[in-house]
Amino acid sequence: MIVDYHIHSPYCGHAHGQIIQYIQAAIQKGIHEICFTDHLGRYYLSKVQKRRLWDWGMNERNLPRYLLEIADLRDVFSNQISIKSGLEIDFIEGADELLKSALGDYVFDFKIGSVHCLPRISWKHLSEIQETPTDRIYNEYFRLVNAAFKSNLFQSIAHIDFIWRYFQMPSGGCSAVRQLLDSAIQSAIDNDCCIEINANGFMWSQANTVDKDDLFCYMLKRIGDLGANTTIGSDAHEPFLVGKSYQTLIPVLREFNITSTCIFTDSVRHVVPLG
Ligand SMILES: [Zn+2]
Ligand SMILES: [Zn+2]
Repeated sequence: MIVDYHIHSPYCGHAHGQIIQYIQAAIQKGIHEICFTDHLGRYYLSKVQKRRLWDWGMNERNLPRYLLEIADLRDVFSNQISIKSGLEIDFIEGADELLKSALGDYVFDFKIGSVHCLPRISWKHLSEIQETPTDRIYNEYFRLVNAAFKSNLFQSIAHIDFIWRYFQMPSGGCSAVRQLLDSAIQSAIDNDCCIEINANGFMWSQANTVDKDDLFCYMLKRIGDLGANTTIGSDAHEPFLVGKSYQTLIPVLREFNITSTCIFTDSVRHVVPLG
């Protein structure tokens, strides 16, 4: 089964195209199931947090519209593709209850958590932080990733490889990062949460190597060896990027003994064969 469980939509304000175009692109590529996981805005946070944190997600008014549009198109395309509704939600430590009450009675098939900022260090997006040495950044990033796995708010945590796309290795080099990855993957298993395999991270690792080492492959190897549950997604912000690089990625996953992935209905996980 080919699935894409990380797709954005114009509702967040920074993805292009229309929802129907993402669906048509997925059908053209032979994808069996997709899940929209657009960014939830930060409107639900406390006043102080809202002032400090930049926002890049859909607002309160758009959330019901987003869900309705997906529901309508799910019916229209039901003979061609399975369409699920989800969200990508920034993990903001301490905001669990605010988040739960903001999501209220809305039903989602899938919620994926992600760490895009480190509030104890900076409220900015990781790409905008400049700090060397990077030890503090790596430790804080993985501390939050582990907290997100433990939070029980999400069915999967997105792109745990995000950090090395933006920051040089810490002073302990790749081996220090491998240890941090080990603890994150263990944390996913202990908390029965999936780890996302993000096609952007894969493409980044294809184009760059870190200290002649490939941390992305190391992450895949550990996931395969330990049998951690995964979700897979393109992180498409444009319709043509749905299922991006899957033709290269899926054989690589097989090499690492990752032969299944997870799909969700009303937050209930089903493990399906991959590819
Ligand atoms: Zn993300
Ligand atoms: Zn995303």
